[in-house]
Amino acid sequence: MSTSYSQSGIQCDNGDLLKKITFTETEINGEIQYINLYGDIVKPHPVYELSLEERVKKGYTVVDPDKNSRTARPTYTLTFLDTVDNTGIGFDDPSLGSIRRQILESALTDILTMITNTGFVDIQVNASENEGKGALASAGPYPTPASTGYSIGSVAKHVILGKDPYPTFPDAEITFDFGYNWNNSTDYPDFDEYDMYSVALHELVHCFGFTSYLAPDGTSVVGEDGYYTLFDQFLINSDYTNLLEGDPPGLSTETGDLTSNALRFQFSTGSIAPVYSPSPYTYGSSCSHLDHGRSSGVTYVMHPSISTGTTGRILHADEINVLSSLGYGIESQYLYTGLSDLTPSNLENIQIYPNPATNYIKLIWNKTINHNALTIKINNIIGKEVFNSNRDEIFLRNNYVIIDTNSLPNGIYFVVIDDKESTVTKRIIKK
Ligand SMILES: [Zn+2]
Repeated sequence: MSTSYSQSGIQCDNGDLLKKITFTETEINGEIQYINLYGDIVKPHPVYELSLEERVKKGYTVVDPDKNSRTARPTYTLTFLDTVDNTGIGFDDPSLGSIRRQILESALTDILTMITNTGFVDIQVNASENEGKGALASAGPYPTPASTGYSIGSVAKHVILGKDPYPTFPDAEITFDFGYNWNNSTDYPDFDEYDMYSVALHELVHCFGFTSYLAPDGTSVVGEDGYYTLFDQFLINSDYTNLLEGDPPGLSTETGDLTSNALRFQFSTGSIAPVYSPSPYTYGSSCSHLDHGRSSGVTYVMHPSISTGTTGRILHADEINVLSSLGYGIESQYLYTGLSDLTPSNLENIQIYPNPATNYIKLIWNKTINHNALTIKINNIIGKEVFNSNRDEIFLRNNYVIIDTNSLPNGIYFVVIDDKESTVTKRIIKK
């Protein structure tokens, strides 16, 4: 769905891509046609008439290098229409196109690394905009109508079930506007640059079904008796009742809940996260995002806007839990499953590097450490806590964690690692 990734402080909307790719199947003159919300017939781009092999050979499509050998993860293709159409801008820019394609691909592989399903995902990267107006980017999956009243989306179906809902189409579309000042690298963005990796990650997560079909009046954007998204099924009101209920689904209470600033996503585990639901309703942003303004210090990648000079490169556990609720198999270490099953550990074995650090520090441990039990704090030289893993964003992997240190002033810090049985303190320098 359309995701408006807005300029700092401005909620720009972008319902356009949503309307373009949300289609319904209709039989016209005995043929199945796909009609979008503008009433136009949607057809696959002519490039998909070429075989995958030909598309790859011509440089239009990037294929997962592990496509044939990988069995434990989904595989992917990314098709760049900038390259197909020789636009000379965006992903076809003579000097920046290659790195931009790589940044998008690395954001995709970072998502797929967490997912244990073994299907596929095929994403079309549309011809880029170059206006520097409106949304930074927008993206979403094709709908997959379901008898339950909730659409899982084409990406989820292809990844989880291995079934391609529309074999002549890709599964999702994504569009960037390169008229803005982008950070075309994986380094930290300058103060006046939008971070491309952060926005790519955000948009791709939308493609995986992190999206709503709620219209401002609470009906489905697909129309009367239309279906919503599976994401919508998990939304709850301020009083913990379901936002939608019934068959076909509809609002359980008043439309005001969409603008209550109190909408929440209830995970299949029962815990909750704040869903962006301000008043007035903001088309393209409301109901499809998390709201870090209503969290206690969390920075969500799926917040509807991003400022220049900032990043949202690491998915919060809430965001990964949304994907889990949508039905994806997720590697357990990403889910923050709790603090149970404590095992003895040897915190002294934890290594921290680089030291001195600049953008980040990486804490690596061997498998005797129960990372679920860890709390990591960083104190400055006068003992003031500047980071706490219970509150601040961390990037947790199987045997390491990455902490963003960009915002720390240069100086000496103490990393305090606690596993509920013992504590160690390690000194680092930020420069
Ligand atoms: Zn968005």
